Amino acid sequence: MEPIQLTWMSRGSCRNYPAAAFFPSDGVGIDAARKICAECPVKTPCLEYALAERIEHGVWGGCSERERRRILKRRRESAAAPERETVPAR
Ligand code: SF4
Repeated sequence: MEPIQLTWMSRGSCRNYPAAAFFPSDGVGIDAARKICAECPVKTPCLEYALAERIEHGVWGGCSERERRRILKRRRESAAAPERETVPAR
C-alpha cells in the first residue's frame, strides 16, 4: 500500500480560516465551507484523502459527511456490479 501524500494540505484555502468553519453544525455552515472549498486548488486530493481515511466529520473537498457517505456507497456499488458484457462489433 502506498503512503498517503499530504503535501496538498499546506496549499488548502482553509489555512486562512478557523478550523471550526469546516466543522459546521448546520446547513448554512456547510454551504459557507463549500464556497471556500469550491475555489480551493487542492479540492480533489482533499476529498480523496477524506474518503480514503473514512473521515466522518466536517467538510472536506467541498463535501459534507452525508455527501461523502453517498460517494463511498456509489463507489462500493459500482465496484461490486458485474462487468457488462460487450458485444463485438460486426
Ligand atoms: S477543499 Fe476545502 S477542506 Fe479541503 S483543503 Fe481545500 S479548503 Fe480545505
